[in-house]
Amino acid sequence: MKNHTLAVLGGALIVAGTVRAEKGLGFKDTPIIPGTPYHVHDGERPQPRIIETAGAVVVKPPSDAKVLFDGSNLDAWTSSKGGPTWEIKDGAMVAKGTDIVTKDEFGAIQLHFEWKIPAGRKVSGQGGGNSGCFLMGLYEVQILQSNSNKTYPDGQAAALYGMQPPLVNATSPQGEWNSFDITFEPPVYEDGKFKTPALVTVVHNGVIVQNREPFTGPSGYRKLSEYPAEHPETGPIRLQFHGDPVEYRNFWVRPLGVRDQGN
Ligand code: MG
Repeated sequence: MKNHTLAVLGGALIVAGTVRAEKGLGFKDTPIIPGTPYHVHDGERPQPRIIETAGAVVVKPPSDAKVLFDGSNLDAWTSSKGGPTWEIKDGAMVAKGTDIVTKDEFGAIQLHFEWKIPAGRKVSGQGGGNSGCFLMGLYEVQILQSNSNKTYPDGQAAALYGMQPPLVNATSPQGEWNSFDITFEPPVYEDGKFKTPALVTVVHNGVIVQNREPFTGPSGYRKLSEYPAEHPETGPIRLQFHGDPVEYRNFWVRPLGVRDQGN
């Protein structure tokens, strides 16, 4: 009876079957994420509720945006190989070879882009449809085929990788475009000391899925990192090549500027 009651109590956390914890998807030998009872990449963390959306919200760049990719060239990007290794196909840039980074560096930004996992590609967990957008080159908002593919919740699309799953799962079906509208604020350091963490807001296909959520430190795999003693004020946007030909289009950024200072 006792066991049965415990099982029901565990089940009581599952509201009408919409939120399910899954065993066997992730890890239990990783650190506990601060402020949560969950391990990094915890497969038993509740899966975010799946919602349907109308798909990507295509926002054309405003006049003061820095366009990082408009379908025509990769001039805004480079890589550790000395130049961008990605390809352009049908107006999209396609992940290939290694990560690419913007030549320009940014601090607080508004960012818009659209992404797609190609149709027909076999995906499983973290494999087959994986990329990521690293803000300041350090803080990853995950890109993954999460429409019909389960993984550990802090590793699904729009997760702060290894930290926080999205509030809901708004991922488009494989082969269809997704949009991300991101607001990012760098960590604050004062007098050379870490003060407050980097914050991110993510709108996925028009739906808010991260709301000024703090990064616990730079992103990593199976670990948590602390904020470094020294931190740059700006950094490039980095897009991950994880072995999969993930596509991106309509990629633009706006530094946030400061009110009353003419910028
Ligand atoms: Mg990734």
